[in-house]
Amino acid sequence: MTVSGILILAEHRDGELRPVTHELISAAQDVRAEIGDRVTVAIVGSQADRFVPALSVDGVDEILVFASPQAEFDADITEAALSAAISDSQPALILLGHGVDSMDYAAAFATRHGTGFATDVFKLGFDDGQLVATRGGYGQKVNVELDFPGKRTVVLCLRTGTFKPDLKPASPPVRRLAPAWPAPGARFGALIPPPATDDVDVSSVDFILSVGRGVGEEGNVERFRELAATLGATLGCSRPIADSGWLPKSRQVGQSGKTAVNCKLYIAMGISGAIQHLAGMKHVDTVVAVNTDSNASIFSVAKYGIVGDMFEIAEELGKQFE
Ligand SMILES: Cc1cc2nc3c(=O)[nH]c(=O)nc-3n(C[C@H](O)[C@H](O)[C@H](O)COP(=O)(O)OP(=O)(O)OC[C@H]3O[C@@H](n4cnc5c(N)ncnc54)[C@H](O)[C@@H]3O)c2cc1C
Repeated sequence: MTVSGILILAEHRDGELRPVTHELISAAQDVRAEIGDRVTVAIVGSQADRFVPALSVDGVDEILVFASPQAEFDADITEAALSAAISDSQPALILLGHGVDSMDYAAAFATRHGTGFATDVFKLGFDDGQLVATRGGYGQKVNVELDFPGKRTVVLCLRTGTFKPDLKPASPPVRRLAPAWPAPGARFGALIPPPATDDVDVSSVDFILSVGRGVGEEGNVERFRELAATLGATLGCSRPIADSGWLPKSRQVGQSGKTAVNCKLYIAMGISGAIQHLAGMKHVDTVVAVNTDSNASIFSVAKYGIVGDMFEIAEELGKQFE
């Protein structure tokens, strides 16, 4: 049987569709023309139907609903649903989010089905008619392009916060599949939410001034908090600053922090531009970088760059906006 088209597994938790789902649907649009021009989204869970409206967006050709015995994610149940979806749709490409859910089953699933497989993929493309997935290598120091010779189907886990969703409502047809369910492999206890914080959410603001290790010491952070207030920006930071406790974790931008989703302007001061930090800045319109090192990676994503000392630039900026 010929394989064709793209199958996406929607993710949800605690009754909410996870943002990565719409990112996967967006990513699929970049390569759909080369892979049979058909995108199917599968949703699994005892309340799966409630997510159909949120999945009904442009670029989705069909929604497959699996009303499984469990409300929340279970690796064995998910594998059973995906296996049924493979038999049903014969997809050439399966897109999953790269996260704790897929880490629980994706590699085993790919091995059992003999598919191509790659995790933490941040770019999709085609070269000479072959699917090419790009991911980091050697601790994210180099980009590695992977192809999958001889594989009929490829499973890719895509990095979250990388593919910008821009989807309009639509009305794709909905189909229900009911495979034989295995006994769940895990018992669901309860969801323990992260501690409540009344701190600002950097993923929803327009303008972020972020500081990195170049700030030097904790006592210097206040100076940049004042500058951010003067400019009307929200103060963000790189991970070492949050890890040191100089700013709350909620201010950290990056792969293991927040994604600056709605940010129009991002001023990065004393931040080198590690791939994990850049992962949180994918959706920023304009990046301004200030760094003493002209070779810092942050300049590769900056629209405007200043090679200079962040303290001197902060002083000048402060004077301009007093
Ligand atoms: C699994 C994983 C997840 C991660 N998640 C994140 C994440 O979510 N967010 C994140 O930020 N990092 C994350 N990291 C860490 C990341 O790899 C980098 O270590 C981190 O981003 C570096 O922070 P930095 O740029 O502030 O520090 P550095 O890399 O040390 O850079 C400091 C920069 O400041 C410049 N500088 C120094 N003095 C001055 C000055 N006076 N004026 C101007 N510039 C100056 C230097 O030239 C340098 O470029 C993660 C790492 C891993 C392995």
